[in-house]
Amino acid sequence: MTESPCQSCGACCSYSSNWPRFTIEEDAALDLIPAKFVNDRLSGMRCDGDRCTALTGKIGISTACGIYEIRPDVCRTCMPGDPECLMARRRFGLGALPASFAAGDH
Ligand code: SF4
Ligand code: SF4
Repeated sequence: MTESPCQSCGACCSYSSNWPRFTIEEDAALDLIPAKFVNDRLSGMRCDGDRCTALTGKIGISTACGIYEIRPDVCRTCMPGDPECLMARRRFGLGALPASFAAGDH
């Protein structure tokens, strides 16, 4: 299996404070996310500027989600190679990905 390009990216986790927003998660799932990573309105992830506070590492070099196993649904649906991914990567001057990555894990 090809290694996910996300591990050397992180662009979509740093694109907009409106992106890591909770949608259809059950309360029980959201309760697992440490409060320090949740915004004051409890509507999404807490961001520092545009960057999700759960993201560690350096964008375009090496990044990781600090709550990967319990990340919100919106983060699970963003797939490498999809339009949102490419938009985020462009912002950070990262190249496009082959469409085949759209089927990969995030
Ligand atoms: S989905 Fe795209 S923008 Fe997000 S981390 Fe992966 S490669 Fe980067
Ligand atoms: S919760 Fe994780 S996957 Fe979602 S935006 Fe934050 S760092 Fe990225």
